[in-house]
Amino acid sequence: MTNFTSKNALVLGGSRGIGAEIVRRFTKDGACVTFTYANSGDAANVLALESGSSALHADSANRASVIAAVKASGKLDIIVVNAGVLVAGDPLKLDPDAVDRMIDINVRAPYHAFVEAARLMNDNGRMIIIGSCSSERQPFPFLAAYALTKSAMRGMVKGLARDFGARGITVNAVQPGPVDTDMNPEDGPMKDMMHSFMAIKRHARPEEIAGMVAYLASAEAAIVTGALHTIDGGFSA
Ligand code: NDP
Repeated sequence: MTNFTSKNALVLGGSRGIGAEIVRRFTKDGACVTFTYANSGDAANVLALESGSSALHADSANRASVIAAVKASGKLDIIVVNAGVLVAGDPLKLDPDAVDRMIDINVRAPYHAFVEAARLMNDNGRMIIIGSCSSERQPFPFLAAYALTKSAMRGMVKGLARDFGARGITVNAVQPGPVDTDMNPEDGPMKDMMHSFMAIKRHARPEEIAGMVAYLASAEAAIVTGALHTIDGGFSA
């Protein structure tokens, strides 16, 4: 059980999948939650209504939009960067603009969001980014660019943890393995190959990832910082 009563939280990329479950968990546990979305306006409106959160349009590919969304959220206690995209394929054939846009969303946006949030954040605040077990182990072809983005955040988490630690602000990454969402549906064609690398041979449910995020955002996790928290059914073991 976690209690976020009177906490002000921002989730970047909350309209679907893991992000939507994080929004639901925070609101259920009493937080005042704003979340951003880019393309899924209808899903965002439904989630905002059902959970009592606020939806804000902000494209994480655009630095000015990300910074404006953080500023609009005021003095934060919790910021979670969940927004991420997956561009996969033969590196010799991938569209370089699509790769660069992924780097903007997965790497640049989290850095600028966390720095902007820190300007106003309350002491003992929480910064959490959703990474991936791909940052540690990449046993399939065609995911080098995605893995690059998920590795980059590891250095950021460790560095910002030191920069903001004196204020009690913690900075952590959650690194899921396969999670059943639109990005990686459990009934997709890669299922058996992915499960063959796992000790527990199933996709995680988004709620399971939200549970780890809730722990890291809680008062109980005050001493947990600069760390990478893998939740992958043993994929990286
Ligand atoms: P989904 O594709 O199901 O959902 C992605 C979410 O991110 C949506 O809410 C989407 O909003 C938002 N988003 C994407 N691009 C942008 C953007 N430019 N600006 C703002 N929001 C954006 O993905 P998952 O829920 O599966 O993934 C969430 C995170 O978890 C990602 O960072 C992903 O890399 C990571 N992850 C996922 C794994 C999996 O197996 N599913 C495994 C490991 C890590 P909208 O639709 O409104 O654009």
